Amino acid sequence: MAGRILIVDNVPTSRIILKVKLSKAFYEVMQAASGREAMACAIKDQPDIIILDTDLGDMSAHELCALLKSTPATRYVPVLIATPADDTEAKIAALKAGADEFLTKPIDEPTLIARVRALMRALATTDELRRRNNTAHALGFAEAPASFTAPGKISLVGRNAEDAMTWRAGLRGLINDDIDIVHADRLLETIANGHAADVYLISSDMSDGGSGLRLIADIRARHNTRSAGIVVVHEDQNRDDAVMALDLGANDVITRGSDPEEMALRLRSQMRRKIQADVLRTSVDEDLRLAMMDPLTGLYNRRYALPYLTQVMQQSVASGQHFAIMLIDLDHFKGVNDTFGHAIGDQVLTEVAKRLRDNMRGIDLIARFGGEEFLICMPMTSLVQARAAAERVRSVLCATPVATAADGTPVSTSASIGLSMGGTKHVGIETLLEIADRALYHAKAEGRNQVTLGSYAA
Ligand code: GH3
Ligand code: MG
Ligand code: MG
Repeated sequence: MAGRILIVDNVPTSRIILKVKLSKAFYEVMQAASGREAMACAIKDQPDIIILDTDLGDMSAHELCALLKSTPATRYVPVLIATPADDTEAKIAALKAGADEFLTKPIDEPTLIARVRALMRALATTDELRRRNNTAHALGFAEAPASFTAPGKISLVGRNAEDAMTWRAGLRGLINDDIDIVHADRLLETIANGHAADVYLISSDMSDGGSGLRLIADIRARHNTRSAGIVVVHEDQNRDDAVMALDLGANDVITRGSDPEEMALRLRSQMRRKIQADVLRTSVDEDLRLAMMDPLTGLYNRRYALPYLTQVMQQSVASGQHFAIMLIDLDHFKGVNDTFGHAIGDQVLTEVAKRLRDNMRGIDLIARFGGEEFLICMPMTSLVQARAAAERVRSVLCATPVATAADGTPVSTSASIGLSMGGTKHVGIETLLEIADRALYHAKAEGRNQVTLGSYAA
């Protein structure tokens, strides 16, 4: 489905005209005739976008906008306000109330559809993040900081240097963010060197005759600027540039010569959106990290390791290269807990994890598989290499006792290791793990602190 849009206008004919335009583009349209009705509908039906007329009868557009933005259930829904072209005051009031964008009346159909499309696209990317974030909240994770907007970085890419300097002069005192000026030809180089901005203000035409619009795709294609805000400055008479800019991925467009306060508010609104998305993304990443890491040792957990092993096996079968699995179980670990206490036991586990990390290659996967049991998967490894690695791990674990924090008591430790080789025969991961487990059992039975190679026949 294309998306759901709520139109709020107290004049029925205006609503119908807008509805016809949007329905033609396959959007599902809902209507409200007053601010109060709109509020109820927004909460109940959760539209993707809300379009407001300036006057709603019972309240003004910016009053409703402020209400929507301060209500948790509707806070993230983008709001567009339709204002007369020359009414700068109404535009500024709307932006101050938190409106995401506004449409100039009379509403031009291609511009309307391009704007709606751009907003829907932005929603699709943030929606998934928001959903995961909500799940995290439902599970009791901490609330992400609401709307702390620290100063960000804005890059101005003018038609020429003078153009950008004029923008910067206009924005002085209106914006707290760091502002720098970048030449269009050097923008990509700047980004590649790690100097990414949060928001870009770009002229649609360049003084050398080139188009600024080509920069939009470039910015979107770089990983460190993928989610940056992009605002394009276009000539008043050139509506096609505005439509194309939005279709290419710009977040907003502004007419050249607009009031600096309007420009500042639009940039600020993009900055808010960018920072909000960053906060969401970081907390989602953190949730993911928690879901796949063992908190004590910082190693991957079993849940992460199992599907990973399946991938290694598939690649290995495809490339005809062997891989190895080591199951490592600490010897008489119960005795460590019994003698020194659980806290010291934990320190030993942490040190074991560190020694494993220090002694394996970057491509090897190291996981905590159970209490005092670890798994290592070594892709692209021959039997000879696997044996040598397992022997190295065994000797590194027992060579030096672990010096524990409490009183420095050295705690001796050793491990038994079961090894199994995979890759050529179509043997499933479960079988390989069983083989390693059986080999481990033999290593224990034969006196511990040793490596045993498992075999299919065993
Ligand atoms: P074996 O040589 O046969 O492996 O002897 P073991 O004592 O290591 O074997 P067993 O499986 O009987 O005991 C494992 C012990 O590991 C029991 C449990 O208390 C301890 N253990 C498991 N997870 C943790 C942990 O997170 N922290 C601490 N301190 N101990 C743990
Ligand atoms: Mg065990
Ligand atoms: Mg054990």
